[in-house]
Amino acid sequence: FSNLQNLNTEIPKKNKVKKKSQDKEAKKEFSIKDIPAPHVIKSKLDQYVIGQEQAKKVIAVAVYNHYKRAFCQTSGQEGAEDDVQIEKSNILMIGPTGSGKTYLVKTLANLLNVPLAIADATSLTEAGYIGDDIESVVSKLLTASGNDVEKAEHGIIFIDEIDKIARKKETNTRDVSGESVQQELLKLLEGSTVEVPVGAGQKNALTPTTTVNTENILFICGGAFPDLETIIRERLQKKSSMGFGAVLKDDAEQERQILSKVTTEDLRKFGMIPEFLGRLPVTVTLEKLNEELLMRILREPRNAILRQYEKLLSMDEVKLEFEEDALRWIAEEALRRDTGARALRAILEEFMLDIMYEIPKDPGIGTVVVTRSYLEKKGGPLIQMRG
Ligand code: ADP
Repeated sequence: FSNLQNLNTEIPKKNKVKKKSQDKEAKKEFSIKDIPAPHVIKSKLDQYVIGQEQAKKVIAVAVYNHYKRAFCQTSGQEGAEDDVQIEKSNILMIGPTGSGKTYLVKTLANLLNVPLAIADATSLTEAGYIGDDIESVVSKLLTASGNDVEKAEHGIIFIDEIDKIARKKETNTRDVSGESVQQELLKLLEGSTVEVPVGAGQKNALTPTTTVNTENILFICGGAFPDLETIIRERLQKKSSMGFGAVLKDDAEQERQILSKVTTEDLRKFGMIPEFLGRLPVTVTLEKLNEELLMRILREPRNAILRQYEKLLSMDEVKLEFEEDALRWIAEEALRRDTGARALRAILEEFMLDIMYEIPKDPGIGTVVVTRSYLEKKGGPLIQMRG
């Protein structure tokens, strides 16, 4: 835990495990004040992640509580005066493709300076089957921590595509695979010690192993949960038809936020087992990005795509500008592709290629303005010469 602040220490050699005891000294210096407050976490997330205000807020609080809890345990303060045990606040993250789930987690790990492992639930199988066994996610985290067990034990594990291990609906045969992966994940989520190979790779007789306690590892499970909206909508409609003519407005904005109305019951209907949901007490929903948010994503984040292109061209001493209407076109096109913010980069790449190819040919060019008509293939970009 003490390493939350200083992860830049040199990474031990592969297969060499840093044991917990080595860090005893540093441990004393760590105080609860070192955990960034929720508003600080949120404001840092704001610099990178556009929109998703509620999600950022929920995550900031959950993470703050998570590390407080971890701190209580590491510093042995827990249970001194009372028997209150803070429960683990693992997070379930629901949101459409390209709405920023992975990005949010990556940004979070970065700003907290903790190691992060990203795993895909679809690759996980029950022990004994072909595929990665459940412990492989911990092994990934250990690798991400440079084989430092203590660092790993305060890291974050993001399991993506968690909806893919839902129990299949409307089948009489019980779908074993998804459900049993959920079953096997329970222990990890809750906190248990697992034996993992040191250094990437499969467990076999020759690889040294070490034990990692998952008690203070923050698990975030994310997924798009297609059709969950239908389940929520059905429930809401049933409810409203029972009321006195309560009409469900289905305007676009409400539709966009329907996911935020999700309940545990809906998720159970979707195919997640109750025990599994019980281990993920915090639910975060991300909304589908609309045109306005997509436009903001193009230019506002610290590492915005537009800024990256501007920087590239500025190295040729060329100023790159985008018409407001051009940005709108890009956002509209991204919406048509329906892959969230993911489409933005792909769209820009297509159009920036020619510009980046042609511009260096003529050192006289001072400014390039990308116009809507260029994007619509009705004309070229506006070029202004120097001086
Ligand atoms: P998913 O929800 O499918 O995990 P990602 O987080 O991988 O989506 O998003 C893909 C990319 O789109 C990210 O790398 C990021 O650059 C961009 N992006 C997505 N959502 C946002 C957002 N809300 N703010 C800023 N960038 C975003």
